Amino acid sequence: MTAVAVPTEAPVQDVEVGAFTVPTDAPEADGTLAWDSTTIVVVELTAAGERGLGYTYADVATAKLIESKLADVVRGHDAFSPQGAWAAMVGAIRNLGRPGICSMAISAVDTALWDLKARLLGLPLGKLLGMASECVPVYGSGGFTAYSMNRLQEQLAGWVERGIPRVKMKVGSNPDADPERVRGARSAIGPNAQLFTDANGAYSRKQALELAVRFREEAQVSWLEEPVSSDDLEGLRLLRDRAPAGLEIAAGEYGYDAVYFKRMLDAVDVLQADVTRCAGITELLRVDGMCRARSMPLSLHCGPAIHLHPGTALEQLVHLEYFHDHVRIEHLLFDGVQAPRDGTLYPDLTRPGNGLEFKRADAERYAA
Ligand SMILES: [Mg+2]
Repeated sequence: MTAVAVPTEAPVQDVEVGAFTVPTDAPEADGTLAWDSTTIVVVELTAAGERGLGYTYADVATAKLIESKLADVVRGHDAFSPQGAWAAMVGAIRNLGRPGICSMAISAVDTALWDLKARLLGLPLGKLLGMASECVPVYGSGGFTAYSMNRLQEQLAGWVERGIPRVKMKVGSNPDADPERVRGARSAIGPNAQLFTDANGAYSRKQALELAVRFREEAQVSWLEEPVSSDDLEGLRLLRDRAPAGLEIAAGEYGYDAVYFKRMLDAVDVLQADVTRCAGITELLRVDGMCRARSMPLSLHCGPAIHLHPGTALEQLVHLEYFHDHVRIEHLLFDGVQAPRDGTLYPDLTRPGNGLEFKRADAERYAA
């Protein structure tokens, strides 16, 4: 029997970067921020005739940073070893600071590298990483504080009608009005769906504690995300330990490196992570390992299309955020985006890599 010659090296050749700003379909706000558009930074890498696609939701400056700091570092690196390129990128941004746009820039390149490797091997990305499960449960997420009660109820009930049994709304813009808003959401989705809330750090500690009790008693809320600032780990821990049973405290979306997640593990019931912020799949797999060692559930934040394949590889994963804004953008800009069936996303294993193709011509009108 003759062994088939398999190439064991594929140097990265081209690095293409683009930033695209897509207006929201209505004004959006949460407890601590308001916005009317979202920018996505898309990276495409080539090696040995294949093309890898990655992205992050970040400022336009992130695209510039990839061009000026990371492109030269990644070019020539072996696409079969994303970890090597990852370490080189982290080394290259040492003096700029790891959190924030540096980690988001690395995320976009790292997710593209893993996609490229999978395509070079002709494998779906989930299979390359190794699938711990064949699908990823999602929760519908939006419910912005800028929405009227009608719009809030219509959006949340819409997800439940489509078979998604978990939905999340924003709170915190007007704390006094939150209990009524949360009760309104519960009445719209019926008694069986799980109702999640996200304060984006808007409450003070004692205010959060009081509202946690009311949300649980008055609307059977089962999740309160960032009740206080994620910088206040003591406050998060206070909430985790004293909020009613049945109400999980979650945070982690601003995690840009492993050290952050290690600290956050001591403060929450469920850790959150975002592959478009935490420096990509390479670091996300480490976060899953840390969760495993702590018996900690892990929930993925936003960007459902870029999270789907990596999500299947995570042992501690409980669900993925099916975020209204990003769902819209991903359908606009990419072919191959999956829609949930009965509240679950299934990767298309007939497509190589992450299964996504960038619709460059459609994206041009949003070029930033
Ligand atoms: Mg959040």
